[in-house]
Amino acid sequence: MEKEEYKGVWIFAEQREGALQKVSLQILGKGRELADELGVELTAVLPGEGIKGLAGELFAHGADRVLAVEHAFLKNYTTDAYTKVVCELVNERKPEIFIIGATNIGRDLGPRVAARLETGLTADCTGLALCPDTANLLMTRPAFGGNLMATIICQEHRPQMSTVRPGVFEIPQGCRTGKGILEEIIPDLMPEDIRTDIVEIAKAAKQVVDIGEAKILVSGGRGVGCKENFSLLYDLADELNGVVSGSRAAVDAGWIDKAYQVGQTGKTVRPQVYIACGISGAIQHLAGMQESDYIIAINKQIDAPIMQVANSAVVGDMHKVIPELIAKIKEIKSMETTC
Ligand code: FAD
Repeated sequence: MEKEEYKGVWIFAEQREGALQKVSLQILGKGRELADELGVELTAVLPGEGIKGLAGELFAHGADRVLAVEHAFLKNYTTDAYTKVVCELVNERKPEIFIIGATNIGRDLGPRVAARLETGLTADCTGLALCPDTANLLMTRPAFGGNLMATIICQEHRPQMSTVRPGVFEIPQGCRTGKGILEEIIPDLMPEDIRTDIVEIAKAAKQVVDIGEAKILVSGGRGVGCKENFSLLYDLADELNGVVSGSRAAVDAGWIDKAYQVGQTGKTVRPQVYIACGISGAIQHLAGMQESDYIIAINKQIDAPIMQVANSAVVGDMHKVIPELIAKIKEIKSMETTC
């Protein structure tokens, strides 16, 4: 393999039922930065059926080129079909960087593609940059239980591959004209290429609110004390039109569902306001929320690590502070309605 033959930045544009996943637009923004720095094209690989109409959205968010890989066998994700078409395209066109969103699909596809291409993959990256000297991709991710950040390079093999968790990068704001080159590709896929049959797609019965989308998060930790006390957080969230989330300690105690966990093994969030109630601010928790625009911490201990990242720190018992906060918000609201 000649490294020099590999050129261009690719992202995997993941769609489900014809809708692009937000993480694809987030990695497109980072891909744009890298492509501009390298002076190369940014390409989005978009497998599916009847999906070429999504190209405009990808162009609008930074793609120069969209490879719409259309086939009935790509309508729903299967490891075999997606791996085959993606690997064939990479082998033919040789991108030097390939970024994939770390969704359930991306976490399945990325390692499979990397293994077949005999290259490396750094999973769950929180930072991507170019080495100023070599232009190698610097892929940063938490290591050793999140206690340190490791920057990994893939020196010998191409493409340099990484997966990035949803919410780590911001979606670029309408940066482009929405124009680019759309290539429609009909892959050579046969039934025998795919070893799984999708018999039925069952959706979760319980509607889960995506905390990654929330503008205001009221988050509870071990300091909340018990499941029943979470009602206080729901009351505060109701007043603020927010959503309740939690630390891993709260999730492990069964006080809130895992879907609402913030942090390294939960979700990465960046709301406008993050209210941490009875959360100490362990590094694994901070990894998921420290990019929030404004952080309010309510904690009994002045020296809790969360206080270091907080824009406003309230030292006190949350069971006393939150009811007072709710009362104050109600008072302000009633003043606004009487004015
Ligand atoms: P604690 O650390 O016990 O903190 C409780 C806080 O509440 C204290 O600061 C205390 O002063 C305060 N408090 C107590 N009572 C009150 C009160 N009445 N009023 C106000 N304050 C009060 N953690 C995550 O959150 N998310 C993750 O994704 C995650 N992933 C992890 C991955 C790995 C590999 C590992 C090893 C750990 C991970 N953790 C994660 C766990 C993490 O290390 C911490 O254990 C966890 O975040 C602690 O949760 P906590 O802050 O709620 O509890």
